[in-house]
Amino acid sequence: MTEQVPPAGTPDSTPQDESVDVARARGSAPSRTRPGSAAAVSAVASSTGASSTGASTAGDSADVVVVGAGPAGSAVAYYLATAGLDVLVLEKTHFPREKVCGDGLTPRAVKALTAMGVPIGQSDGWLRNKGLRIVGGGGRIELDWPDLSSYPGYGLVRTRLDFDQALARHAQKAGARLLEGVNVTGPLLDDRTGRIVGVTARNGRQFRGRMVVAADGNSSRLSVAMGLHKRDDRPLGVAVRTYYTSPRHDDDYLEAWLDLWDGNSLLPGYGWIFGMGDGTSNVGLGLLNTSKGFGEIDYRELLRKWLAAMPAEWGFSEENRTQPVRGAALPMGFNRTPHYTRGLLLAGDAGGMVNPFNGEGIGYALESGELAARVIAQALARPTAAGRERVLQTYPRQLKEAYGGYYTLGRVFVDLIGKPSFMQFATKHGVKRPYIMRFTMKLLGNLTETRGGDAVDRLINAVSKMTPAA
Ligand SMILES: Cc1cc2nc3c(=O)[nH]c(=O)nc-3n(C[C@H](O)[C@H](O)[C@H](O)COP(=O)(O)OP(=O)(O)OC[C@H]3O[C@@H](n4cnc5c(N)ncnc54)[C@H](O)[C@@H]3O)c2cc1C
Repeated sequence: MTEQVPPAGTPDSTPQDESVDVARARGSAPSRTRPGSAAAVSAVASSTGASSTGASTAGDSADVVVVGAGPAGSAVAYYLATAGLDVLVLEKTHFPREKVCGDGLTPRAVKALTAMGVPIGQSDGWLRNKGLRIVGGGGRIELDWPDLSSYPGYGLVRTRLDFDQALARHAQKAGARLLEGVNVTGPLLDDRTGRIVGVTARNGRQFRGRMVVAADGNSSRLSVAMGLHKRDDRPLGVAVRTYYTSPRHDDDYLEAWLDLWDGNSLLPGYGWIFGMGDGTSNVGLGLLNTSKGFGEIDYRELLRKWLAAMPAEWGFSEENRTQPVRGAALPMGFNRTPHYTRGLLLAGDAGGMVNPFNGEGIGYALESGELAARVIAQALARPTAAGRERVLQTYPRQLKEAYGGYYTLGRVFVDLIGKPSFMQFATKHGVKRPYIMRFTMKLLGNLTETRGGDAVDRLINAVSKMTPAA
């Protein structure tokens, strides 16, 4: 069995062929095309014999071209299709495909899935969890997800192998078009304005859209080609994970271990054990770039040492490992900005939206996808270019309003826990005190009532609001 731990920033998906496969879900609804939309215009163009430039055909144009069909891309596509726009999603892999992930969803992500009408019952392949079990500093505590009106009181687990496929099919059912096996290599630019008007694929095919969304994950080749690079002043995590057959596979708590040691130093990060409900557990660990030796750490060795201390009956041994150890980067706290420029919007990991407090990225990919779609739908309904631009400029502002202050606090947090003495003090004294841990869970999970709530909710919301946006 080969093991791969790519360095931070390395794309984690396996290379795919370039064959284009129009993958429509069985029974999916036809794309609902608004009069005046790109598809309608292309249809008219082809019937009148007008031709488009490059290798494009009428089917290669859409109101919106979305690059990447992870959670962010599928959320954008779902909401745009629901708004009646013609949306074309380009995905370089073929589903089902692996994505390196912990596979854990907090109530935040559950809420976002519910809003999209994604079936999340046990019979649909999901395993529910009640909360978080934290182990560290000689203590162990089980914390149920907070009971709030704003978020459901449970989380979920499901392997990304079929989660991402289910989400993409859900977007298709809403009317989005998906092309699998299309590796986007760069933008098509308008010579006069410098605006993005589409994308090119590795096989030379061109796709045109009135708007383009980069939902192509951490490496976001499209953003880089548009001059949007990662920011060095924002946190970054690196995590590795694998699967073991284990009697703990149906654990109804997500388990996080804070005791990750490098010699005498307690490292900033955590190890996790998430039962998958299918006979296996997803086991992994993630670290932040605020630790001294970040970049030199041997993640596989750290994982091996950490698991060696686990009870043998849990089964986390080589003979029970079912997958290679794989790793990838977690781009945090808006580590790529601006989130809108020259016709391109960034959603999910492409815009560095992972929560720096806990490494959660799926919920934020879904939420930013929804926000991007709502902004685009409003913008495209404006009759003038100036009007459209005014609306599009609100996207980064709305993101800052939603997460900016909280992510700034997250940056302070990752700097603090990068100091081994602070990490040690917090673990030793925090884990044994339930009231501190309940506060910590709400803060780290960004799980507070949006309005009102208890004293803890009000404190966290007030501090996040008062903190300047990142
Ligand atoms: C080890 C690890 C564990 C994690 N655990 C969790 C967890 O438990 N819970 C959680 O909430 N988050 C977790 N995360 C973070 C989470 O995986 C991401 O934040 C999330 O996947 C972001 O979704 P996305 O849609 O923005 O990007 P992705 O999920 O990365 O999707 C991007 C898509 O774009 C496609 N693509 C890329 N380049 C191109 C191209 N050039 N052309 C066409 N398509 C392209 C990719 O194939 C992919 O399908 C973890 C991350 C790691 C690395």
